[in-house]
Amino acid sequence: MTSRPIPASKTEWHALAASHAYETRMFIDGALCDAAAGGRYDSVNPATGQVIAAMAAGTAEDVDRAVKAARRAFREGVWSRLPPRARMDVLLRFADLIGAHAAEFALLDSVEMGKTVSGMLGFDVPSAVANIRFAAEAIDKIEGAVTNTDPGALHYVLRQPLGVVGLIVPWNYPMLMACWKLGPALAMGNSVVLKPAQQTGMSAVLLARLFAEAGGPAGVFSVVNGSGSDAGQALARHMDVDKIGFTGSVPVGGLMMRYAGESNLKHVTTECGGKSPQIILADCDLDRAVENAVHGIYSNQGEVCAAGSRIMVERSIHDEFLQRFIDRTAALYQPGDPLDPATSMGPMVDGRQHRTVCSYIAKGREEGAHLAMGGGAPEGLEDGLYISPTLFTEARNDMTIAAHEIFGPVGVVLPIRDMEHGLELANSSIFGLGASVWTRDLGRAHRFARDVESGMVWVNTYFDRDATAPWGGVKQSGNGRDKCLEALHQYSQTKSVWIHLGG
Ligand code: NAP
Ligand code: MG
Repeated sequence: MTSRPIPASKTEWHALAASHAYETRMFIDGALCDAAAGGRYDSVNPATGQVIAAMAAGTAEDVDRAVKAARRAFREGVWSRLPPRARMDVLLRFADLIGAHAAEFALLDSVEMGKTVSGMLGFDVPSAVANIRFAAEAIDKIEGAVTNTDPGALHYVLRQPLGVVGLIVPWNYPMLMACWKLGPALAMGNSVVLKPAQQTGMSAVLLARLFAEAGGPAGVFSVVNGSGSDAGQALARHMDVDKIGFTGSVPVGGLMMRYAGESNLKHVTTECGGKSPQIILADCDLDRAVENAVHGIYSNQGEVCAAGSRIMVERSIHDEFLQRFIDRTAALYQPGDPLDPATSMGPMVDGRQHRTVCSYIAKGREEGAHLAMGGGAPEGLEDGLYISPTLFTEARNDMTIAAHEIFGPVGVVLPIRDMEHGLELANSSIFGLGASVWTRDLGRAHRFARDVESGMVWVNTYFDRDATAPWGGVKQSGNGRDKCLEALHQYSQTKSVWIHLGG
């Protein structure tokens, strides 16, 4: 497939969006195809409300065909038993092709989800490429073991792929969430069936086509679009799927475990939501703290699993922090046309998410928090799904807005006495995905990192990460780890081989 140059202006992006031939088919067993039952659903651009295309809506029948192809490919060994460096070559080519198609990925995830093209080019695409490369380069560094057993025996432990892996991902970072899981799953030699979120099915199909172009054999990576309750459930309940790698909400993560229990006890790893605390202490570098706190809650419209949505500020700096935070937000985040490279914030993904976020804003007011900023649509964009950066202050930890994941541009400020108070509030959550502390006191920072119940901790920064850093949560934020070497382990299993030496 030929790639396109990156459009240089808003006008060029709109020209590309208007002329692009949107692929509506799925990709199963090495070929584009429509759903067996012929179903379709509309993909809608949340920035305009217009239907982009009628996408193929896969059902259990399509899932079953994809799983059969995946199993066939796995058993034949066309991928699973390739020499590791041959798999590495394909995956490195795959990463290169993703990078070369940055414009198409940015276009597809932007028009389907409302994500800004600047965010796609600055973060999602490069991070996807880096994560596929990391997994590819790790292929021949994963080792088995020989254990120290009886001298009359040789016992070794093989690390092998699981077989057929189903990946179910959300809409907030469509191609990136898929790549975080595709990298380790494919690197270890598994076959994969990917079910993207309904709102954002197009970039998944482009990924599968590029994997094939890179030399990935038919059946090894299929995409079945369709609804969660139909195609998603069929995949998670399938008797011949060995693992589900899931990213999404807590309730659906729970369903994954239930479906596994009610079907074939497949492995399940979950990456779910969060209500991540940012703890700003009086001795911090306030400029840096403000800047990062703003990005922590408003980047990607707040539709980020690890959004730093609970902002806890030590009382003595509370008012100064607030003023600076509001000023910096006005300078950094104003909603607008996501296809304009100057825009830093797009609309909510769909009407449902827009209503959810608005109802939380109403709830915050009702419960008596002070609306210090935002709270509605920006001027001139009242008809769309846009929500201005919103901040509640004078909130209490027991308010709904301080406890629930809102998944939109809504921050909640909680005044705290000191770090211990912040830690207590931080750990009172059902979630535990990300957490940050801002202080110049090294001992205090380490104590926070040790004691906070969270999968990831940032000290004097927020969101910093690379492919080596495990990504995942504790408590109801999930039990899986994406990226990092541990992810490769989670897409493989050990086999114990005991040899009687005789003599
Ligand atoms: P979601 O509703 O849980 O959906 C996630 C995926 O599961 C979608 O593909 C969805 O398909 C599918 N699904 C829904 N019901 C299903 C069922 N009964 N059986 C099988 N699959 C089903 O989450 P979302 O609204 O797309 O995304 C937002 C959530 O994702 C937030 O809670 C956010 O925190 C979380 N998230 C977590 C991370 C992380 O790394 N921890 C990263 C990003 C997002 P449909 O499209 O049909 O609903
Ligand atoms: Mg959903």
